[in-house]
Amino acid sequence: MNPEPDETSTDDIILFLDRFKDYEPNSTIIITGGEPTMIDVDKLRTICELIHMSGHKVGMLTNGYILHPLEWFDYVNLDNHGVNAKDLVKWRIALKESGRWYEETDKTYHQDMRYAMKNNVTQGFRCNSLMQPLTLWKDVIYPCCNAMCVEWWIDNYEVTRALYEAGWTIHNPEIVYTVTNWRETLPSEFYRLCTIKC
Ligand code: SF4
Repeated sequence: MNPEPDETSTDDIILFLDRFKDYEPNSTIIITGGEPTMIDVDKLRTICELIHMSGHKVGMLTNGYILHPLEWFDYVNLDNHGVNAKDLVKWRIALKESGRWYEETDKTYHQDMRYAMKNNVTQGFRCNSLMQPLTLWKDVIYPCCNAMCVEWWIDNYEVTRALYEAGWTIHNPEIVYTVTNWRETLPSEFYRLCTIKC
């Protein structure tokens, strides 16, 4: 509801798609947020077009707030956080009628970080999320979809800085080499975040 002035720019997305053009072709690139249906409508349509032009499918993880043209997306994950069930209805009906690929995630709360820390959830090298969804936020590539969210929660951007300095950024012409060799290139600060905070 309160768009940040420093959200990922279209130029950064163009550079990201160019750097990763040969990395897992035909895969689905998921637009997340925040809430992606709140992105400026022209910018969102442009992002979808750019992803399609790069040879990838477009996915979106959404709370369903605004219904956009379905043809922009190849896949939609309707994410129920317990406060938006009525918003999901319009998407569910439209997606069913269109026959498009969609799934629903029915979690009514965010991850309980204190529970996760107390119970030593799988982390770092053992985490199923590590390197599965590479995530672009602004010009930094994160090796999972959770690290930047954890940084927001703890209001500390040490890992973002460490990733940037270790070349985990779209400004690195060798970024595909860097992420492919993640065992050597991931900075130790990232593992500290995994094991202590996530
Ligand atoms: S930050 Fe969390 S989700 Fe990401 S790899 Fe580490 S333990 Fe897994």
